[in-house]
Amino acid sequence: MNYSAPSLERFAHCALSAYGCDAGEAKIVSEHLVAANLAGHDSHGIGMLPMYGAQIRDGNLIPNQKPEFLPRNGAITVVDAKMGFGHRITPLALDHAMETIGEQKVAILALRNAGHICRIGTYSEYCSRRGYVSIHMVNVVGHDPIVAPFGAREGGYSTNPVSMAMPLKDSPGPVLDMATSTVAFGKVRVAHNKGQTVPPGCIVDKEGVGTTDPGPMVRAKEGALTAFGEHKGSGLGVMAELMAGALAGTNTIDKARTFPNGVHNNMLSIILDPSGFDDADAIAERAQRYCNFINGLQPAKGIDSVLMPGDPENESRRRRGEHGVPIDAETLRQTADSVAKYGIAPDQLMNHLEKLPV
Ligand code: NAD
Repeated sequence: MNYSAPSLERFAHCALSAYGCDAGEAKIVSEHLVAANLAGHDSHGIGMLPMYGAQIRDGNLIPNQKPEFLPRNGAITVVDAKMGFGHRITPLALDHAMETIGEQKVAILALRNAGHICRIGTYSEYCSRRGYVSIHMVNVVGHDPIVAPFGAREGGYSTNPVSMAMPLKDSPGPVLDMATSTVAFGKVRVAHNKGQTVPPGCIVDKEGVGTTDPGPMVRAKEGALTAFGEHKGSGLGVMAELMAGALAGTNTIDKARTFPNGVHNNMLSIILDPSGFDDADAIAERAQRYCNFINGLQPAKGIDSVLMPGDPENESRRRRGEHGVPIDAETLRQTADSVAKYGIAPDQLMNHLEKLPV
C-alpha cells in the first residue's frame, strides 16, 4: 500500500510525540525519516520508529537532549550529542562547525555520542545547499560488530557509512551515500518484514557461509553482513571506524559500550568552501559538465542509463512524491505496537495515514 508523504510525516510525528519528543524535535525527525523514504531508502525511513521507541525505553536515546559544544580548536569543532536524536543535533553541529569556515575555507566537525543520525546523505545535501563540498565518515557503535571484515568469520565493525557531495549551480549535485557493508542492516530488516530474501553475497550465516535468508540475522542476530568490494570495501569500513570512532569520537566498536537496542553514531565531517580553490561557479560548471558526460555514456547491455551517485534518489523522490511511499503492513504493525507501549491506541496513529492508489 502507498501512503502520501505528508501523511507519513504526521504518522511519524504522532509516534515521536508519544515517545516524548517535543514538537520541534518530532518535526525534524519525522521530516528526516520520510525524506529517506522518498529518496528510496526505506531502511532509514519510518521503519526506524519502533527501534527509537525501544531505545528511549532502554535509556540509550534521550529525547530533546542538549548537545555540548566543546571549545573550538582552529578549524576543528567537536560536538557531543550526549545520546540525543542525531537527526536534530547533526544539523545544529554542522551549522556550528560551518561558522568557522571564514578565511580558512574549511571546517571540520567531530560529532560524537549521537543517537542514530540515520541517512548520512541528508547531511551532505545540507552542506551542498549552503554551497559547500563535504565528506562524511561515520562509525556505528552501541551494539556488537555486525560486518565481517575481509577474511574474518565474525563481525569487526558495523555498516560504517561514507557520504560526499559536490554542489552544482542549482542543486545539491551528485551525492554519494553508502554503507561500507554490501547492504545496510535496515535493508535486511525490510526484506525480512516483507517476507523476501536478500540478494546473494550480502550476508553470511553463523558459520560464515553465504545465505539469502534474512530471518536468523533479524530474529536472533546470527551471522554477519559482508563488506562491499572484498578487501577494498573492508578497508574503507575499518578506516571509517578509525576516522569517526578513534579520531572524531572517543571509542571504536571493540571498546564502546553496548546497550539494549543500541545504535549510536560518531561522524567526522570535512566541509570545504569551493571558493578556496577557484571561482565557485567555475567549479560548479566543471562538475556539471562531468556529470553530463557520465550520464551521456553508452549504457551497458540491459541497462537503461548511466547514473551519477544521487540520481537514483532523485528519481525515487520524483516517483514517490507523485505516487506515495510503499510501506508494508509489518512495519506499520511494529510501529503501532511500539506506540501502544507509550499509551497511544493504534487507531490514533493509523488515522494519520492517507492511502494513495498504486
Ligand atoms: P545504496 O547501495 O542504495 O546506494 C549507495 C550509493 O550508490 C548512493 O549514493 C546511490 O546514489 C548510488 N547508486 C545506487 N545505484 C546506482 C546506480 N545504478 N548507478 C550509480 N549510482 C548508484 O545505499 P546503501 O549503501 O544501502 O545505504 C543506504 C542508506 O543507509 C544510506 O542513506 C546510508 O547513509 C544509510 N546508513 C546509515 C547508517 C547509520 O548508522 N546512520 C549506517 C549505514 C548506512
